[in-house]
Amino acid sequence: MSNATLAAFTEPDRPKNLLIRFITVGGSYVDVTGPGEHSDENRWNCRGCGESSQLPEGDFLFCIRPDANSHAANCRAIPLR
Ligand SMILES: [Zn+2]
Repeated sequence: MSNATLAAFTEPDRPKNLLIRFITVGGSYVDVTGPGEHSDENRWNCRGCGESSQLPEGDFLFCIRPDANSHAANCRAIPLR
């Protein structure tokens, strides 16, 4: 089984406001959280390396989604817990 597959079986609890969860190439997760599609309070946070949205105030989902997805496609930090 690949690391990504193994990580899928040990997925951390899902926060209530979780909108999207991307699995990273390192087997960790990038969580997109917030009120929803048309809110500017959505954020993304990588559980592997700790990087997060550049804008501290958050953004609409259509702006955050590609950033979070491309971070997941490039982040090689492994889950430490
Ligand atoms: Zn990361």
